[in-house]
Amino acid sequence: VVCLQGVCKSYGVGTPREVEVLHGIDLVLRRGEFCALIGPSGSGKSTMLNLIGLLDRPTAGTLFIEGHDTRRLDDAALTRLRGRSIGFVFQHHHLIGAFTAAENIMMPLLLDRSRPDAAMRRSAERLLDRVGLLPWKDSRVGNLSGGQQQRVAIARALAMSPALVLADEPTGNLDTKSADGVFDLLREMNRESRTTFLIVTHDPRLAQRCDRIVEVVDGRIVADGAVEEFRRIARS
Ligand code: ATP
Ligand code: MG
Repeated sequence: VVCLQGVCKSYGVGTPREVEVLHGIDLVLRRGEFCALIGPSGSGKSTMLNLIGLLDRPTAGTLFIEGHDTRRLDDAALTRLRGRSIGFVFQHHHLIGAFTAAENIMMPLLLDRSRPDAAMRRSAERLLDRVGLLPWKDSRVGNLSGGQQQRVAIARALAMSPALVLADEPTGNLDTKSADGVFDLLREMNRESRTTFLIVTHDPRLAQRCDRIVEVVDGRIVADGAVEEFRRIARS
């Protein structure tokens, strides 16, 4: 699904403030993997997610998404590939508070098809049902709790049946109980759909519940392995 080879990213290229924040990242994510991305603040986790999410381009190295060499794609082709293949869940959910839950979920479908229709509404309702929010489908998102809003964001991320979901601290703003609920939901979606998940988290407890943990420090991957191996390193 995802393959990075020697990926580097610098900000401020061509200015006196040029800094490289990712130094030669190699990473492969396979179909259906449920992977945590951890590391200190400023280590480059969000930068990596932005590159993999095709929101920004590497300054060096190659990035393959769903078999496409992204260097060969122009911006319009990247946007299409992103819309088709990638769902996003952010810490601040980027939902539109004045719209209802169902309307927010239909947003990506609307961008794709232009007009709401009965099929789109049914599909939004199916997704809301899966995240346990069907009774709230016509509630304004601004009136829902933080945990409920994050569930709407997850349903929206899954609206286009993406191959890959990228989540940047999806539980960062939630209390422990809501965080667990949102995390369980991501896990369940992963089991049901073989969607690949890459989840940035500062919560070691949640990272331990992923299948694989990748750790970045200062723009380099310093550890990568199954959770079991990570536990062994942590103990020794
Ligand atoms: P956090 O855990 O705090 O979210 P992070 O691991 O996500 O941190 P990044 O946001 O990827 O870290 O930032 C990595 C480095 O790149 C930091 O030093 C940051 O200041 C720098 N950086 C990020 N975005 C930009 C930008 N648009 N322009 C210049 N520097 C940036
Ligand atoms: Mg970040």
